[in-house]
Amino acid sequence: MATIQLFDTPASAFAPAEEHFYGQRDAALDSFGRRINYLRISLTDRCNFRCVYCMPEHGAHFAPRDELLHDDELLRVVGAAAAVGFEKIRLTGGEPTIRRNLVELIRGIKQTSGIREISMTTNALKLAPIADALKEAGLSRVNISIDSLQPDRFRSMTRGGDLARVWAGIDAAERVGWTPLKLNAVVVRGLNDDEVVDLARLTVDRPWQLRFIEMMPLAGVGDLADASVVSSSEIMARLEQEFGPLEFIGWKGSDPARTYRLAGAQGELGFISSVTEPFCATCNRMRLTADGKLHLCLLRDDELDLREALRNGAADEDLEALIRQAVFLKPWGHGLPDGIKPTLRGMSELGG
Ligand code: SAM
Ligand code: SF4
Repeated sequence: MATIQLFDTPASAFAPAEEHFYGQRDAALDSFGRRINYLRISLTDRCNFRCVYCMPEHGAHFAPRDELLHDDELLRVVGAAAAVGFEKIRLTGGEPTIRRNLVELIRGIKQTSGIREISMTTNALKLAPIADALKEAGLSRVNISIDSLQPDRFRSMTRGGDLARVWAGIDAAERVGWTPLKLNAVVVRGLNDDEVVDLARLTVDRPWQLRFIEMMPLAGVGDLADASVVSSSEIMARLEQEFGPLEFIGWKGSDPARTYRLAGAQGELGFISSVTEPFCATCNRMRLTADGKLHLCLLRDDELDLREALRNGAADEDLEALIRQAVFLKPWGHGLPDGIKPTLRGMSELGG
């Protein structure tokens, strides 16, 4: 693939018959009948960490600033997406807390008719001092990434991260009432796989969801080999050795995490098994990169350019038609089982 350039085509050429897309009122259905209502927005491709599984230590490529969507452009995309049937927004990155005007952006998204929920995935380094303002602007929930409970190891996995400040961010998230609080841990063989028991234990007396994520082979993972992927089943086996049988809670709708509980625990464990047990059938999401491309599947390279449309004077209905087109083109399944890996972008550009 790669970039699908559609803006030269008149919007009417790909504005489909309403009934084809709208199985239910205001729902954007893709060509496989999946309801696509969740837009994950990468606010920046830059980050204050350099996690080993996400970005190279040196020489990361960043889009020039004039290629990034401006705030007003981003809000127009959100408005068009809402008109097409998107209801949930997640802010991510790169690191979303380093985006200028974050509070105002959240306020603008919150005021968009049709948007029901705004959440954010963050490394939380800069979260504590701004948590109240983000909450007041309309942020409803956060996921915080934390791969190790050992300060030195955390520093080396993130290449510079300060675990104490991340804990301050977690405390702030609890204080402002962002519940349920979800913590993300990517497990990498030989780096933090010996910590899954300690990470899981956090849920015993805290009502958090600790999510173990299988490492995905995107560009930027550098020299981490496929053998570094630790499967969910391997993690579960290790936890059962320590804690006894995990209680299955469920696999709710489009949430990629299968959830379990340690016996008697207040919180939950989530397992996101994108590599070993893909959940494409229930996928409800689309991604917007910081440079304005709709990225149709995390593990494929297909994209549709909205920035060019915006900067060529697209009307709202043109944007809506492009987003419908992107929904329609959303592929089924990824190619990892056939050895096809995405090559265009790293996770820091896509937001996870
Ligand atoms: N900087 C924020 C953070 O780290 O939470 C948001 C962006 S980050 C790309 C979003 C999520 O993707 C994080 O939970 C991170 O751990 C996860 N992630 C990054 N690279 C990954 C990879 N190669 N495989 C699986 N998850 C990855
Ligand atoms: Fe930055 Fe998040 Fe990627 Fe880590 S996972 S380098 S914090 S974008």
